Amino acid sequence: MDVGLKREIEAKVYAGERLSRADGEALYACDDLAWLGRLAHHKRTERNGERVMFNVNRHLNLTNVCSASCAYCSFQRKPGEKSAYTMRVEEAVAKALEMRDEQLTELHIVNGLHPTLPWKYYPRVLRELKAALPEVSLKCFTATEIQWFEKISGLPADEILDELMDAGLSSLTGGGAEIFDWEIRQHIVDHACHWEDWSRIHRLAHSKGMKTPSTMLYGHIEEPRHRVDHVIRLRELQDETGGFQVFIPLRYQHDFVDAADGIVRNRIQARTTMAAPAESLKTFAVSRLMFDNVPHVKCFWVMHGLSVAQLSLNFGVDDLDGSVVEYKITHDADSYGTPNTMHRDDLLHLIWDAGFQPVERNTLYQVVREYDQPTSIAERRAVPQDVWS
Ligand code: SF4
Repeated sequence: MDVGLKREIEAKVYAGERLSRADGEALYACDDLAWLGRLAHHKRTERNGERVMFNVNRHLNLTNVCSASCAYCSFQRKPGEKSAYTMRVEEAVAKALEMRDEQLTELHIVNGLHPTLPWKYYPRVLRELKAALPEVSLKCFTATEIQWFEKISGLPADEILDELMDAGLSSLTGGGAEIFDWEIRQHIVDHACHWEDWSRIHRLAHSKGMKTPSTMLYGHIEEPRHRVDHVIRLRELQDETGGFQVFIPLRYQHDFVDAADGIVRNRIQARTTMAAPAESLKTFAVSRLMFDNVPHVKCFWVMHGLSVAQLSLNFGVDDLDGSVVEYKITHDADSYGTPNTMHRDDLLHLIWDAGFQPVERNTLYQVVREYDQPTSIAERRAVPQDVWS
């Protein structure tokens, strides 16, 4: 990057000025990763100090049967496929209860767009889960699913959200965003929920007092300018509603070959690679720098691996999700040795070993517990890092 432009952007960042679309594109074109990290770390520590938030949650996917066939998705199954499943309400509750000893604070539930399950199944599951685990927040459904519920119920999103909230819904999830720019979206997304509906549903949720996450699926066929465009759309919506708590860049994953049927379902795999660690770190950094109005940037470690997750804490990230069990949507696709589960202690060590202070949070980003400051690297050197074993 031109030295003059570098100075100009740096001055804007330190003065707290909003970065433009052109600035965002210039940052992606810059290969000075240390400089990008320094700027993003400045913004991150200015907002969130040396704290790293995490939560203890469980991911549940009630069904993998989906009417859509998104090109990047290795999770969906068609009705009748051998590995297609749909949980009975009691099964979902039993699965959630398995983690009671972990003192989880959140259930994260996303699903396929099931062609025949009735709409009433969903609030019923939420009611039963809430009755079984009243202290646990229910973070459920993408905007895509809410739009699907509109279709199968004939009800408007307004009434759907009211009924789900009455059944115990705390927050929507941020999924279904992928990349909003139609130039890319038309090639990867196979359902009817695009920017207009995704933003309509989150705007509506925010108007009802709900806080939601926002996401971006990166590292497939999009270019950096599409990522910048994606962030700017969300930033403008955030100016309007203030309802986004966090931005989560999600790293596109190649398909795994399902051991059960040997089928690769990802249709863009042949013409894509996955984002390299440096690209991921750059994406975290630029996101933090562009988003001057969203409090947190999260690294979902399941999609990035533990090494990148630790490094990301120096590239704008201040939130690690989560203590995940059975993450299926893309983790099925991962053959890179990332563990499927991290318990509370594992996350604590991951954060301490990176030199930050862990803070356990709930779905609303309220502090559940603050942990000790990290000990110095010199003191830590003698202690093996459990998390890598
Ligand atoms: S990403 Fe979601 S909507 Fe798309 S095919 Fe997969 S499960 Fe279905």
